Amino acid sequence: MKYKTWKCGICGETIIEGQRFIFLREIGFAHLECVLERLTEKNSVNRDLLSLIDANELITYSIIRLKESETLAADKDIKEKIISVRKSLEKYSVELSDLLFKYMNSG
Ligand SMILES: [Zn+2]
Repeated sequence: MKYKTWKCGICGETIIEGQRFIFLREIGFAHLECVLERLTEKNSVNRDLLSLIDANELITYSIIRLKESETLAADKDIKEKIISVRKSLEKYSVELSDLLFKYMNSG
């Protein structure tokens, strides 16, 4: 079984599929722990920040899975529908990640 991997934009180490990670527009993929570490340097991590991290993680995961669904779909209309759903999610992903990024660099 082959796992997908990404490079963490904070620590530079490999992220392996199944580990907890998020995508931030300015940083790229990053381990959840690395994001938390960076956040705690400047903020006290409260429930608002945790909820933002959680939402980012879920949306990142959904986008990755939707890309797999696109590859799977043979029917053109179905494929296009999945692509349009994924693109909508990417828009929300940018909004969430920009908000989180703001916290990472403030305080
Ligand atoms: Zn990392």
